[in-house]
Amino acid sequence: MTASAQKTAPVLILLGPPGAGKGTQARMLEEGFGLVQLSTGDLLRAAVAAGTAAGRQADAVMKSGGLVSDEIVLAILKDRLADPDTARGVILDGFPRTAEQAEALDGLLAGTGQRVNSVISLDVEDEPMIARVAGRYTCANCGEGYHDLFKQPATADVCDKCGGAEFKRRADDNAETAGARLAAYHAQTAPLITYYEARGVLKRADAMADIASVAGALAAIVRQVTD
Ligand code: AMP
Repeated sequence: MTASAQKTAPVLILLGPPGAGKGTQARMLEEGFGLVQLSTGDLLRAAVAAGTAAGRQADAVMKSGGLVSDEIVLAILKDRLADPDTARGVILDGFPRTAEQAEALDGLLAGTGQRVNSVISLDVEDEPMIARVAGRYTCANCGEGYHDLFKQPATADVCDKCGGAEFKRRADDNAETAGARLAAYHAQTAPLITYYEARGVLKRADAMADIASVAGALAAIVRQVTD
């Protein structure tokens, strides 16, 4: 293969409101395709936990359910994209969330000859999203996701996947903040569906279906850009 015919690493975006399953599906795609999940929410939570200047600024905004400034988000994403593992290809989860971020992403990718290959909109109804978000928690050790109503560990308080006994909940996973996050999604992020549709890279998936069915639909889409 000549250098010019070589494929650049794929860049995929999962778009969808809080509770649509972006994180769950991104982790499954990571395992299935060797891609790297980049969640700006996870990166921001790490910055908050580390007590960095950016983390201190982001903390209150995240607790309110609003969007952290583009300046902070772009800086942490740019840093993460510089890590060598991202050369395998990335699945962006929770980014971009505004038109400005979408344009900034094009600029970041242009530097490495990459582009956005596929944007998958996880289509869901609004109302069930609040219940999905408000009851969720994860294993503190391996990150496996659970839910008070929909998915409890087989043995109470023991992680099915790693046997861990410690679980954690996000500070913003409550009904009130979930409502604000949903509103922010509709006001600032949903317009990106039209933006990427116009560029011919948008795909849609019914994300009201069960996790395995959604995973199957997403895998079929991802295969088109990784094969
Ligand atoms: P998430 O984990 O994607 O649900 O994000 C949790 C919170 O982090 C959001 O409610 C925002 O406050 C913040 N956040 C995550 N990603 C972004 C982004 N791309 N732009 C602005 N704020 C973000």
